Amino acid sequence: MTKMRRLGVLTSGGDGPGMNPAIRAVVRTALEHEIIPWGIQRGFQGLIDNDMQEMTARSVGGIIQRGGTLLGTARSPEFMTERGRMEALRNLNKNSINALIVIGGDGSMRGALELHKQGFPVVGVPGSIDNDVYGSEMSIGVDTALNTLLQAVDRIKDTASSHRRAFLIEAMGRNCGYLALMGGLAGGAEMVLIPEVPFELEEVLNGLRDAYIKGKAHCIIIVAEGASHRATEIKEFLDTHKQETGFTTRVTILGHVQRGGSPSAFDRILGSRLGAAAVQALIEGQQGIMVGISKSQAAYTPLEEVVSKGKPLDMNLYRIARILEK
Ligand code: ADP
Repeated sequence: MTKMRRLGVLTSGGDGPGMNPAIRAVVRTALEHEIIPWGIQRGFQGLIDNDMQEMTARSVGGIIQRGGTLLGTARSPEFMTERGRMEALRNLNKNSINALIVIGGDGSMRGALELHKQGFPVVGVPGSIDNDVYGSEMSIGVDTALNTLLQAVDRIKDTASSHRRAFLIEAMGRNCGYLALMGGLAGGAEMVLIPEVPFELEEVLNGLRDAYIKGKAHCIIIVAEGASHRATEIKEFLDTHKQETGFTTRVTILGHVQRGGSPSAFDRILGSRLGAAAVQALIEGQQGIMVGISKSQAAYTPLEEVVSKGKPLDMNLYRIARILEK
């Protein structure tokens, strides 16, 4: 690889708290090594639109505590086409950028891999609240999103107990039940419904009835958005069987509330570490890899592996949650 002189950084796909600390770390680590950092706006779309500019240590000042991403993010269907990617490479060359760091989720790692296949030096950093990216024990944003979910669970529990209600709390996470499961474990939920464990509506009804008979003052059910049934659908079913459960049911869909907010200490530190490690990896001549965290250390995984392997949920934690919901 020719000496890295200009390094591009972009955030792509779903945003998450902690992306700003990662951008800040990339920019300042690059400058430390006399590499000029360039910020690309709105993910891969900014590469195609040639929407990018040089960044300085000051342009990332005061952002470590801010949620979202300073660079903006996007889903770019154009980048999924050969023509779009060609345009992206052309603009990178035009601006003399000869390496790129992509911060994003599973989809963004696929995009990064496409650039790598074209021979462009690229390193990925996992940023996704879903925690579904293979090659990193935690993705940037997961911890903050989980704490936001937990706050909501605690608050809802207060009101649920006062009224003897059941609450279905729908959590984000696409096809991964991580957030819902961890939110359930940490929040002491009575039931956790996740995509990894398919279920029938009758099972929820039975669970609700059991909770009532056991004398519980509330019944908190966390439903992952990718579970067999959506929270609203479950409520409709439970409403038609109201007499059999003892609880009235309410639904709270947390939605994008979980994406926003100031990053937790964990996410600020993870973003800072992985951003710095990604620059370091490129300096070492690594490319086509993602820098994740494994056993508290930065770990490299080939992008090819990242996108081809799923990240299964630790089902032992599900079993623990089931025992503790008693
Ligand atoms: P996330 O990175 O959060 O998983 P997406 O799955 O929406 O979010 O992916 C973000 C962007 O990455 C997409 O809009 C697209 O531009 C790019 N991307 C995803 N998959 C591919 C692919 N197979 N080839 C090229 N680009 C891709």
